[in-house]
Amino acid sequence: MSLSYERSEVWSKKNHEDIFSFAEGYKKFLSIAKTERLAHRELLCRAKEKGFRSFEELKKEGNLLPGAKLYLENKNKSLVLMVLGADLEEGMRVVGSHIDVPRLDLKQVPLYEEGKLAFFKTHYYGGVKKYQWTCIPLALHGLAYTKEGKAVELSIGEEEEDPVFYINDLLIHLSADQMQKKLSEAITGEQLNVVVGHMPLKGEEKEAIKAGVLKALNDKYGLIEEDFLVSEIEVVPAGKARDVGFDRSMVAGHGHDDRACAYASLRAILEIEAPQKTAVCLFADKEEIGSVGNSSMEALFFENLISEILAYQGKDSSLGRRRALAASKVLSADVSACFDPNFPEVTEKLNTAHLGCGGSLNKYTGVRGKGGSNDANAEFLQELRELFDKKNVLWQTGELGKVDQGGGGTIAFILAKYGAEVVDFGLPVLSMHAPIELISKADLYAAYEAYKAFME
Ligand code: MN
Ligand code: MN
Repeated sequence: MSLSYERSEVWSKKNHEDIFSFAEGYKKFLSIAKTERLAHRELLCRAKEKGFRSFEELKKEGNLLPGAKLYLENKNKSLVLMVLGADLEEGMRVVGSHIDVPRLDLKQVPLYEEGKLAFFKTHYYGGVKKYQWTCIPLALHGLAYTKEGKAVELSIGEEEEDPVFYINDLLIHLSADQMQKKLSEAITGEQLNVVVGHMPLKGEEKEAIKAGVLKALNDKYGLIEEDFLVSEIEVVPAGKARDVGFDRSMVAGHGHDDRACAYASLRAILEIEAPQKTAVCLFADKEEIGSVGNSSMEALFFENLISEILAYQGKDSSLGRRRALAASKVLSADVSACFDPNFPEVTEKLNTAHLGCGGSLNKYTGVRGKGGSNDANAEFLQELRELFDKKNVLWQTGELGKVDQGGGGTIAFILAKYGAEVVDFGLPVLSMHAPIELISKADLYAAYEAYKAFME
């Protein structure tokens, strides 16, 4: 046994074909799942294909027996997948990720015309560097309703023949003042206006370009301007996830945080059959704005589901739920910062995750002295080490940067309050929260192996 510790490299220890074929499935998923709603739909669709059925359906049939595979949808934005074990009160093995991603949302009265252009006004969602959203092709996705109540799904900008949208930045020739500004102020939130049209509608005298956009929206979707008041439309980078590098070892795409963990855990639970302890995957919304609201991890849909199952089984649904949660073990599946050779000064090399060295176990996150963090217990970490050793899972530890450099949080603390053992376990990401982020295919595969080993 070696006395000193060194990170292991996934590329030298795992089968490359397995890594690459796993990444192919992921790229397809990421290219479709451009919003939390689309991610929810895609996850659910894949679970149904593998025999997962709705809780209500199974309850009606009296089929909530050990081995049952069930799902609970919540608001079309968050989802629970569950494979029932012998006794729920003995605790579950939960892998919890989030499927919302930093992006730009349309305001409720978005459309205006100025300087021979029509624009949509936006309000950014989550932590973004605003300047990164200019001068890239953008797509629109979302849900609107016509006045008559017909739901209209918008999706424009992903197909080859689709138009895309665009946010302009100032030309360098006139940027003397702008270049002196701080990055955080060089592009402001109110400048993140999306160009959506330029051609005046014939016969229209006032705001003819805006009228042209409205006509196009009405022709194609039957929408009028007032319909935006009750819509949810998101602006995201257009296009598919792509391989990166001559060796195709990495993936660039929108929303690795946290759809990489969501996909890895989905693939893991789809392979779980009749576990001793109930296996659960949670896919939550609204993590990027603090896990608030009825589709977030703070909402009680998961707790309610546990109570419903226990009530069905003739048990005390309130006390039983507390027992079930307190006896549970949780991997909070969220991505981690990692060492970036372009910015070595923000991390501390020993204690940051490194690309290609496997899933990143973050004992704690938080800011200013672990503030707001779930600081996992050594007993649980040891249990995981033994499990991962036994199942040949490659992993490393990480943290969100140098002490006092910044930091962040995840959903870990939310399930920890019930007494469950919880630790953050995700994969390293470069350019986290950028419109297009970068991951290693090796780490994605390692995270999947970790989630599978944990739920088995
Ligand atoms: Mn995240
Ligand atoms: Mn994030």
